[in-house]
Amino acid sequence: MNMVVQSSLSNIAIIFLMHLCIDIFLKRSNLSENQLWLGMVSFISAAVIIMFYLPIKFGGFQFDLRLIPLVFLAFKWGPKYAALALFVTCSWRFGMGGEGAVPGIIFGMILPVLFALVIRRVKNSTLNPFTLFILISVSWLISDFPIIFLVPEGGSVFKEIGVMRFFSFQLTAFVLYFFIISTEKEISLKEQLQYYAERDPLTNLFNIRTFERKIKSFPESTKEMFIIMIDIDHFKAINDKYGHLNGDLIIKSVADLIVGQTSRFVKENFILGRYGGEEFILFMEAHSRKEMLNAVESIREEIERTTFYTEDNKPIKSLTVSIGVSELSQGNHLHHAIEKADKWLYHSKRNGRNQISGA
Ligand code: GH3
Ligand code: MG
Ligand code: MG
Repeated sequence: MNMVVQSSLSNIAIIFLMHLCIDIFLKRSNLSENQLWLGMVSFISAAVIIMFYLPIKFGGFQFDLRLIPLVFLAFKWGPKYAALALFVTCSWRFGMGGEGAVPGIIFGMILPVLFALVIRRVKNSTLNPFTLFILISVSWLISDFPIIFLVPEGGSVFKEIGVMRFFSFQLTAFVLYFFIISTEKEISLKEQLQYYAERDPLTNLFNIRTFERKIKSFPESTKEMFIIMIDIDHFKAINDKYGHLNGDLIIKSVADLIVGQTSRFVKENFILGRYGGEEFILFMEAHSRKEMLNAVESIREEIERTTFYTEDNKPIKSLTVSIGVSELSQGNHLHHAIEKADKWLYHSKRNGRNQISGA
């Protein structure tokens, strides 16, 4: 009875600690890789060390759940995490001394972690219930089977505690698995929500609110900054002739083309948003006005040159855009620059379309 109580308490403790660890570290997307590494390893090492002090005592021997956090860490986060945690916890266990220290380190820590790393490679770190069952069963065997040979009357010790240890390992592992899966689902749902809150669902471009926010947080540089408004010419006619769905398809294709063409010229130094229906807003950093105009001219040319296709493969030729540009200087309000670019865009329209205007 005493053994069952001890075992339950350490199971509860490890589940609690690991849940805390998942909550603290998995949900923080703002941590750098090294912060995550050091944070996770410190936490898991502390959890393992706490397990040393919450042993299950049986006939003068002590057993604990040390391998659960270590095996999870190795399987889910790989060798970089496992190696440091092993170093810390093995050193601690060695420092505590006692006859069981070395076999405990080898069979209860190092070998199960190595096995978890091998399974991780085979399974590409995707954890499913079957893999978990195998992982924990084999870790249990590696850790507890040697008792038969290592301690006097080991066979009967193993027989007495083996089944309970097996079930307590599996139970804890599956509760943790459930925590990890549900946390990962929550994180991916949050990311999806954020993605669609920031973007236009048709083109995947930023919506105007996000566009403005991204400009404000754009890293400062000595380059010149420009606002460019791009509107598809006579788009109503496309909708009327090919239908609204094909219209959507063209808007998406034009958006992709603008992204491709802009990044060819200024790499990542731009932000593209969907301003309205078939109107795009582009923020660009360039070494000079000439460099910006080259990029913008290539967008205009490429759209004119491209044959777009409807869903049923009807070609749409000679689609064109009108463009207005303005400079966004430091101190110059963004809305003011947008207004100016918009005016120049309508200047391009009035002047015959398929052209770029700007002071
Ligand atoms: P222009 O710009 O050359 O003056 O003529 P236009 O026909 O393109 O006129 P305008 O830019 O004023 O109108 C845009 C049209 O685009 C109006 C609407 O029918 C269509 N439109 C707006 N948003 C969408 C959309 O999300 N999908 C589709 N298919 N059409 C849209
Ligand atoms: Mg238009
Ligand atoms: Mg328009």
